[in-house]
Amino acid sequence: MGWPGERVYAGCAYIDQVELLCIELAKELFRAEFADVRPTSGVCANLVVYTAFTEPGDTMMALSIPNGGHISMGRKKIGGTAGSVRGLEVEYFPFDVEEMNIDVEATAKFLKELSERGRAPKLAMFGGSVLPFPHPVADLQGPLHDCGAIICYDAAHVAGLIAGGQFQDPMREGADVMTASTHKTIPGPQGGIVLSWERFSERIKRAVFPGNVSNHHLHHVAGKAIAFAEMLEFGKAYAEQIVRNSKALGQALYERGFKVLGEKKGFTESHVLIVDISEYGDGRTIEKDLERANIILNRNLLPYDIKLGRHFEAPGGIRLGTSECTRLGMREPEMTEIADLIARVVIKKEPPERVREDVIEFRKGFQKVRFAFESLREAYEYIRIR
Ligand SMILES: *Cc1c(COP(=O)(O)O)cnc(C)c1O
Repeated sequence: MGWPGERVYAGCAYIDQVELLCIELAKELFRAEFADVRPTSGVCANLVVYTAFTEPGDTMMALSIPNGGHISMGRKKIGGTAGSVRGLEVEYFPFDVEEMNIDVEATAKFLKELSERGRAPKLAMFGGSVLPFPHPVADLQGPLHDCGAIICYDAAHVAGLIAGGQFQDPMREGADVMTASTHKTIPGPQGGIVLSWERFSERIKRAVFPGNVSNHHLHHVAGKAIAFAEMLEFGKAYAEQIVRNSKALGQALYERGFKVLGEKKGFTESHVLIVDISEYGDGRTIEKDLERANIILNRNLLPYDIKLGRHFEAPGGIRLGTSECTRLGMREPEMTEIADLIARVVIKKEPPERVREDVIEFRKGFQKVRFAFESLREAYEYIRIR
């Protein structure tokens, strides 16, 4: 419990060293003045931000879930963390489906309206769970700061791409704070992190402990440190290949007849793709069929699903990400093969069990984890010399 060196009980001499090292690596990786590695998940990191920068009843802006927002940014009505745990009133960023992004002009107008009603946001949460294109943090930081909002960027999904310099860099674009999971595009243990500037450090520390975390997951702290060290060493190459792969996979799926969203912008600039599969079935059935073929992806709401009467349990979309297959050494040619395998299940309706045989065969060539230290020794030595 507490900050390294200021814990509220004894016996922490060694975990203090590990945690301070982890913090230094995180700060270097994200070029942040402050890092707190204690949050036990991305949701926990967001709760820390809500605790540090808002009071119950305040307004927060975020993406709605069909447009890519995460349940931790959700309204009370849907059981979202922001609404039901912190008591925030969530207002949604206006969204442009063609662009698959936040509508800057409409947001600026909406901010004026909210201010006139005395409901100016205290916090704006950028980022999301479907984040193919960089959010307009730089364009909106002026209007948001003018109305008194703190800007947070939820990098749960794209933290590894940010670390590798292959996506937007929110901390340079005006974000006051950034949260992330350490297990999505950062290949670390399940966990969370908060990054910020020195001026907010005390508020964030207090929001972590005693606010949201008592014992944190000590056994994950060293794992996070190694993951950050690996990202410092291999992150650029890893993130570059992730993005190349997702663009290639988007193109290959499109060529096989899939309706990949964001078409006019090249499908994606991150690791993630979103595909409207409603003409072939519902997202739940397709997710299950693909899982039977050993292909793991997930069903996902499309921006227009709710309007069409679809529900998150059987939505019209699927969401794919290339971070795992990239880490196993797959490149652009393999993306074409993956698109073929997916098309056989979803479009041609071949029995998943038959496709699975070919997936197993295909996967045999990719058994080694890439963009990683080859041994524990190498990892520990890397940290020691830094
Ligand atoms: C996954 C996700 C989270 C939550 O992270 P956990 O580590 O699963 O708690 C928060 N925000 C966004 C945008 C996410 O996609």
